[in-house]
Amino acid sequence: MATIIDGKQVAADVHAALGPRIAALHAAGVVPGLAVILVGDDPASQAYVTMKERDCERLGMRSFDMRLPADTDQERLNAVIDRFDADPAVHGILVQLPLPGHLDAEAALARISAPKDVDGLTPESLGRLVRGLPAHRACTPYGVMRMLEAYGIDPAGKRAVVVGRSTLVGKPMALLLLEANATVTVCHSKTRDLAAVCREADILVAAIGKAGFITAEFVKPGAVVIDVGIVRTDAGLVGDVDFTAVEPIASAITPVPGGVGPMTRAMLMENAVRAAEAAHADLTR
Ligand code: NAP
Repeated sequence: MATIIDGKQVAADVHAALGPRIAALHAAGVVPGLAVILVGDDPASQAYVTMKERDCERLGMRSFDMRLPADTDQERLNAVIDRFDADPAVHGILVQLPLPGHLDAEAALARISAPKDVDGLTPESLGRLVRGLPAHRACTPYGVMRMLEAYGIDPAGKRAVVVGRSTLVGKPMALLLLEANATVTVCHSKTRDLAAVCREADILVAAIGKAGFITAEFVKPGAVVIDVGIVRTDAGLVGDVDFTAVEPIASAITPVPGGVGPMTRAMLMENAVRAAEAAHADLTR
C-alpha cells in the first residue's frame, strides 16, 4: 500500500505558513496584490481564475482581476500587462494559459518583469532557473518539489523520469529535480520503449494529459509516482496515472484530484507573497 501524498494538506500547511508573513506585510501597510488576466470564456480557465481569487481573499491578499473578451487583440493584452507591471500595488501578474489562438503567449509573457512573474514562466525566469539563479519558480513543478520535501522524499542521487516536456511543466520539472541532485531523464511522445524508461524511475512524474496512460507496467516497485495530469472525463477529473493499478506497486503516489493541483495554487500564493516582501524591502532599503 502506497503512502497517499495529500496535496490538499501540504497546500493548507503552505497557506498556514503564509499567514504570519502576510500579517507582517499588513502591519507595514502592504497588502500583497496579485493580478490575474484571463482572455476568453474557457470554462476550465474561468474556474481556475475564480479559485485563485478565492485563495487571495481567504489569505488577506488583494486580487486585481482582468477578464477580457475572447476577441481581445495583442495590443490591448500588452497594454493591460504593462499597466499591471507599472502598478506598485500589484506584486505579481499571472496570464491564464492557454490564450486564444490568435494571441502570441510568448510575446505577452515576455512583457512581465521578473520580480512580478509569480508564475515563473517568462524567458527571464526560466533562463534564471537554467542558470541556477534566484527567480520565481514555475508553480506546478515547484509544488511537486515541495510535496516531495513535505513527505521526506529527497531526490538526491535518485533516478527521476519526467514524462512530458512542456515549458509549463515538463522542462522546469526536470530542471528542479536536477537542481535537487536527481539523475533526470525527460520523455515525450517520440521516446522509444517509454514503459521501460519509466520503470527505471525512483521518482516518476507524469505530465502528459492522457487519462490513465501510466499503467502498472510503467512503474518500478517502490517508486514514488507524481501525477500532474488533469483530464476532464464524464466520471470527473482524472490524472495521467491509472491510480487503481499503480497504487499497490508504488511507495507513494499523488491522487487526482487532491494532489498536484492544490499545490500549484499554493505556490502561486507563496510566490506572490515573496514578491510583495521583496518589493517592500526594496522600498525601505
Ligand atoms: P502539453 O503542453 O500538452 O504537453 C504534454 C507533453 O506530454 C508533451 O511534451 C508531449 O510530448 C507529451 N506526451 C503526449 N503524449 C505522449 C505519449 N503518448 N507518450 C509520451 N509523452 C507524451 O501539456 P502540459 O501543459 O505540460 O500539461 C500536461 C498535463 O498536466 C495536462 O493534463 C494538464 O492539464 C496538466 N496540468 C496540471 C497542472 C496542475 O496544477 N495539476 C498544471 C499544469 C498542467 P511531445 O512534446 O513530444 O508532444
